[in-house]
Amino acid sequence: MKPFTLLAVSSSLMLWGCQFRTLDEDLSGTALSETATEDFCTDYHWEYEGDHAPDTWSICYGTCGGDAQSPVDIWNPLTDNSLQTIHPDYEEVPTDIINNGHTVECEYEPGSILMLNGLPYELLQFHFHAGSEHTVRGKQYPLEVHLVHRNVATGKLAVIGVFFQRGRSNPILQTIMDHMPLQEGDHYASAAHIDADNLLPDNRTYYTYSGSLTTPPCSEIVTWIVMDKPIFASQAQLDAFDNVLHDNFRPVQPINGRTIRKRVD
Ligand SMILES: [Zn+2]
Repeated sequence: MKPFTLLAVSSSLMLWGCQFRTLDEDLSGTALSETATEDFCTDYHWEYEGDHAPDTWSICYGTCGGDAQSPVDIWNPLTDNSLQTIHPDYEEVPTDIINNGHTVECEYEPGSILMLNGLPYELLQFHFHAGSEHTVRGKQYPLEVHLVHRNVATGKLAVIGVFFQRGRSNPILQTIMDHMPLQEGDHYASAAHIDADNLLPDNRTYYTYSGSLTTPPCSEIVTWIVMDKPIFASQAQLDAFDNVLHDNFRPVQPINGRTIRKRVD
């Protein structure tokens, strides 16, 4: 979060408040501010740039200004090899591939499970961010995939993040590119058979911390598992995703005293 940008946003809201005051002098200062916020948030569609960029999300989605937000820069983790290993039981299934205007998302059929702390989390979907949302000691990768799992009983999420690095061509990315939904709303049903296990690096060293969805409403319900080792994608593949995703990453958020733990494989 950039304090100066936030300041600029609140200043512009105050300016709107002043304009409203001349229109209706009966309104109190607080009400004016609320009116301005309400006005700003009417027909608000969050985006990654422009008037509705990430530094405005918390105006209309309060949780986005919370203390346990994601993504974060991974810095100075605490090594803890009492953490469990990550070996999800994923099925190879036909996936629907959609472009929802914010990302390219592959919907997963029920039945693929990640066991975490004794609880089953079902893989719902995976989607992409270009460049990466998490960074490692300040380094941003060109692409990051998020595998989103949910525990039905608690409603909590477990999201595995995997970085891509430029190198050899990646078969799964190629399969998705063959059915790439280029425009918002494009949708390919049962487009391709995909085994999400191929999105995980062989080495399962990972970082874990408590955080949030990286898009509004930014709910703080996510156990993050970020793989240390990247997997590969060719420059042509990275370019193809870049052209569709248009810098759809949220900037890193303050860690605020949270501990990032690391399990070395
Ligand atoms: Zn994501």
